[in-house]
Amino acid sequence: MGTRKYRRKTSHSEHGPGDGGRTGSWRVERPVLNESLCIPCKRNKEACFICWLFCPEIVISRTIPPTINLEYCKGCGICAEECPTRAITMADEADFSHEDKDSSCT
Ligand code: SF4
Ligand code: SF4
Repeated sequence: MGTRKYRRKTSHSEHGPGDGGRTGSWRVERPVLNESLCIPCKRNKEACFICWLFCPEIVISRTIPPTINLEYCKGCGICAEECPTRAITMADEADFSHEDKDSSCT
């Protein structure tokens, strides 16, 4: 009896941006990307993306350069902590104007 034939079908869902609400609205720090230190930006090829892998809100794109959707970024700082080149730093949200609060950053 092959397991493939009789394998139980299960449903699953994958979480995505916004599943935890508009978390960007209560962020106190925001991630800022320095492209000159970012590996895919420097090599102009898909590489690294550790920030994308670790972001719990799935708001970092796997693109060159990576972009961060600040509407849902909660400012946890994990991306900055995990980035091997320190290309992401956390900046005080108060330093940005209210209009900038939800815009994406690269
Ligand atoms: S982890 Fe750092 S170096 Fe790697 S893609 Fe993200 S920002 Fe760039
Ligand atoms: S601070 Fe970084 S890891 Fe945390 S939610 Fe924002 S983009 Fe994702």
